[in-house]
Amino acid sequence: MPPGSTIGILGGGQLGRMTALAARHMGYRIATLDPAPDAPCAQVADHRFTAALDDVAAARRLAAISDVVTYEFENVAEPVAAALEELAVVRPSSRVLAVAQNRVREKETLAALGLPVASFRPVASLAELEAAAAEVGYPCLLKTATGGYDGKGQRWLHGPADVVAAWEWASAQYPGQERSEAVGEGPRFILEARVPFVRELSVIVARNPQGMTSVYPVAENIHRRQILHASIVPARVSPAVAQAAQALAVRLAEGLEAVGVLGVELFLTADDRLYVNEFAPRPHNSGHYTIEACATSQFQQHVRTVCGLPLGSTDLLRPAVMINLLGQHIPRMHAAVAHLLAIEGLHLHVYGKAEARRDRKMGHLTILAESVEEALARAQQAWDLVRAPDDPPAVA
Ligand code: AMP
Repeated sequence: MPPGSTIGILGGGQLGRMTALAARHMGYRIATLDPAPDAPCAQVADHRFTAALDDVAAARRLAAISDVVTYEFENVAEPVAAALEELAVVRPSSRVLAVAQNRVREKETLAALGLPVASFRPVASLAELEAAAAEVGYPCLLKTATGGYDGKGQRWLHGPADVVAAWEWASAQYPGQERSEAVGEGPRFILEARVPFVRELSVIVARNPQGMTSVYPVAENIHRRQILHASIVPARVSPAVAQAAQALAVRLAEGLEAVGVLGVELFLTADDRLYVNEFAPRPHNSGHYTIEACATSQFQQHVRTVCGLPLGSTDLLRPAVMINLLGQHIPRMHAAVAHLLAIEGLHLHVYGKAEARRDRKMGHLTILAESVEEALARAQQAWDLVRAPDDPPAVA
């Protein structure tokens, strides 16, 4: 699909916005659908549809004017995905979406592809939970099959005494949904053994319709209160671990025959073993560093994949640290913006969201330097300017 074609983006958040901006550089037109008329992506789109994300009729209108449709969140309702695919090319496909949006299917698919995952069991009843916990061992983590993000929809079990309370918690997780569209008929929960990880890593991988893949440098991610706080690139891991992590991401993209960009999240244990936790069928927060730090950003790469173009170089130009700016950081960011921008190698991104609610992703900073240590030192200066009173003082 040559420049001048229209890319439809379902969802109007920051991932859509950054994809749209990259696409615009290359002369593509953007259509977007989001419930908020002033959503981050809508602000930079050529065509906006204001409707609920599960509005099938609106999705049809989006698809009707788009040459290709992509999305920036994985909880696309099945009837919406079906309607989009009827009218337009959808990338990644609804098959990849279906795997990504259900943790049971996701873990089963990862395991079937031979990728290392934590021991897990699908769970549909109290009796199954009891048996599954005895099998995978304690501590273990009960997760909803669908809908959870940023650590929501999870509950730890430390011993057999926690089983009943965990099931009570589970029973309250799908309010008013006798049979959720997204869950389908399968078990609604998954129980996973705890992976005793020492680092959380992620890899962005891209695959185009011709089957060409390209993989980005490994990011080391720091979460705070279950929300991504910072990414450090390259990750402080051995070259062998970095290569192995990249190889797992490529195997996943190839195994799924996915067309698009995937964000693959991994755990690393003290004995250098890698486990795949999950993947997102879209650009990923931990890949924002690629905008300035790599020869081709994850967003431009996503545009290339969905338009069927050759992939760009993923070379790391300079080490980078990315820090998320949440709602609570915004007043201080505004007050300190002149000092912030005086930090060498710092790039500021603000997504244009009207309301700076606590923990809402409002923007990010990327700090480039000649070494990770130097990037971290500069990131610390930036963090000192924006952090909220209840944030830990150390950036990482
Ligand atoms: P998820 O919603 O699967 O991304 O999980 C959110 C966070 O929970 C991860 O970033 C980990 O910190 C933690 N977590 C998830 N699964 C496991 C596991 N099997 N073992 C240990 N920690 C986990």
